[in-house]
Amino acid sequence: MTVAIVGAGAAGAAIAYSLREAGADVTVFEKSRGVCGRAATRRREGCRYDYGANYVKDDDERVTRLLTEELDTDGLVEIEDPVWTFDGEGAISEGRDGDERKRTYEAGITQIAKRLFARTDATVHRETRVGAVSREDGDWSLADTEDTDLGTFDTLVLTPPAPQTAELLATTRWDDGRRVTLHDAVAAVDYASVFTAVCHYPFTLDRPWYALVNTDRNHQVGWLSREELKPGHVPDGESLLVAQMGHDWSGERIDDDPQDVLRQSVGHVTELLGDDRVADPDWTDTQGWRYALPNDGLSGNAHRECEAAGLYVAGDWVVGEARVHAALRNGLDVGERIAERH
Ligand SMILES: Cc1cc2nc3c(=O)[nH]c(=O)nc-3n(C[C@H](O)[C@H](O)[C@H](O)COP(=O)(O)OP(=O)(O)OC[C@H]3O[C@@H](n4cnc5c(N)ncnc54)[C@H](O)[C@@H]3O)c2cc1C
Repeated sequence: MTVAIVGAGAAGAAIAYSLREAGADVTVFEKSRGVCGRAATRRREGCRYDYGANYVKDDDERVTRLLTEELDTDGLVEIEDPVWTFDGEGAISEGRDGDERKRTYEAGITQIAKRLFARTDATVHRETRVGAVSREDGDWSLADTEDTDLGTFDTLVLTPPAPQTAELLATTRWDDGRRVTLHDAVAAVDYASVFTAVCHYPFTLDRPWYALVNTDRNHQVGWLSREELKPGHVPDGESLLVAQMGHDWSGERIDDDPQDVLRQSVGHVTELLGDDRVADPDWTDTQGWRYALPNDGLSGNAHRECEAAGLYVAGDWVVGEARVHAALRNGLDVGERIAERH
């Protein structure tokens, strides 16, 4: 069995892991330099910060077992401090946390995909963007965006966010009604955008919470967290704020100059915290996530009907839950279905 996985995010990595004992020859194509997709970590000036997904919750037993028992747990850490809330007026209130655990790694959340791939023999080609797919003699042939041949496989899994998967399906050469039905279902999945502003300070911010979340979706800031509360992420005596701006606010600015959006973001965060020192970070970073969070899941059954032809889709958008654990779980399930088909 030869399997091509497009995308090395949580879902793609979980598929490869799930196939590790299936006798499959697995090749992964990832357009970015790193793995783990929207569960992303950067390093700068002695700090490590998760600027996409903040942590993984233990909402899925299978995934919790994967992270806490099956994979290497060295450096797997929990964020102990609570998440508080705020409303559209910026009024902060205590508590929304239940008993849920919030996990990441000292070395950053990208460790999830790194550790999954480390347990497999999969070949991962980074900085390789799949641009063309065609069906030839019952197999799937791939090419990159320069039309360079990437090989032929009996099984293909598409894991990019739905709009990018829809783009690939729109030009896929496969003369079969299932392609059109699947394309239309995938193209209908709607997304929210998020602008991420990262601000570093050479002093500590003394607050009783790890993060604040806006509960009425009526504030410019959607989420604000303190990366220094993750063990191993920020040197003592420093602070690093990660602000995920509100969906509508971010969507309206996703094509604007990031430095201008950053300046506005810092203003809103400063006002929310009521601390003028926050207005003057000593370094900053940004990321505009055009396809940040699927608002809904894939409808219909077209994706399951395509599986008989060796074509699969996977990711948080397939199950309609914008969470790392959901992407991991879906990846494990899809991997098992691929193994069963052979
Ligand atoms: C700002 C933000 C905050 C979040 N916060 C949380 C949180 O706190 N907790 C939580 O659980 N979840 C959170 N999420 C959601 C979580 O990140 C996602 O649900 C999860 O990472 C999705 O994994 P995935 O594998 O489905 O998709 P992705 O991570 O998007 O993986 C898809 C991969 O495909 C690659 N790709 C795309 N097109 C191509 C192509 N043509 N060729 C090759 N490769 C391609 C991409 O580069 C990417 O690596 C957050 C997301 C964002 C953006």
